[in-house]
Amino acid sequence: MNMRAFLNLPHILEVKSILCVQPHPDDNEIGAGGLLSILNDKGAKIVFATVTDGRRGLSGRDISHEEIIKIRHKEKEEAGRILGVSKYIDLLFEDGGDYSISELTENLVKIFRSIRPELVLTVDPWTPYEAHPDHQKTGKAVAAAMLVARNLSLPHLGESVTIEQIAFYSTPYPNTYIDITNYWERKIEAIRAHKSQFENHNWPLIYQLFYEQSKKWYKEGIEKGYFEAKDKNIEVQERLAETYKVLSIWELHMFPDAVFS
Ligand SMILES: [Zn+2]
Repeated sequence: MNMRAFLNLPHILEVKSILCVQPHPDDNEIGAGGLLSILNDKGAKIVFATVTDGRRGLSGRDISHEEIIKIRHKEKEEAGRILGVSKYIDLLFEDGGDYSISELTENLVKIFRSIRPELVLTVDPWTPYEAHPDHQKTGKAVAAAMLVARNLSLPHLGESVTIEQIAFYSTPYPNTYIDITNYWERKIEAIRAHKSQFENHNWPLIYQLFYEQSKKWYKEGIEKGYFEAKDKNIEVQERLAETYKVLSIWELHMFPDAVFS
């Protein structure tokens, strides 16, 4: 059963407010820069919550953690300006640090209950081979916080809220394909605002990886019927997509079919 259709939930392109929880200061742009550009043009309210301080983003260089944190903070706001982010929340856990999922979940419950977005966006922590602890912990804590924020526990963290849907980027189980061809330049501009991460000799390779991946996703989208058949022409070669796993809150607990949703 398609729970989202059964519950008549809006498509992610139709939501009016979105809270994007990223492990590090550049993940939202990489995972969802196209979707966020579209939503911004449609007038949606976009809030960024960043879990870690990003201090490990420049390891090996002769620069203090305090300086790196400051640089990445500024870059995050510059990228957010390009995407139309209206509010930034920094949880400031140590990048790669020893914080726990439950600690992070509690912080997120408070944020969910205060921001009360229509949709939450984050990384997919159930991607096989996702080895980064911050990504694993963030995705799992966000999903857990969806459940906890809805019930009556932790009343000191605010009034309970039901956020109907969650969208995961960087997912191996996509069920939503978004055509971002016309937003590609803006997505790249937002990614490149993170100069400390991408203004280096690796950029041409990284760009190529992003580009080829997005092209592949578009083609996959056609094969799976997400994009119309009339797009099956030569232009398809240059069309680009982002993919998401979108789940209703009901599918986050005792719902093994969610993998196939
Ligand atoms: Zn990251």
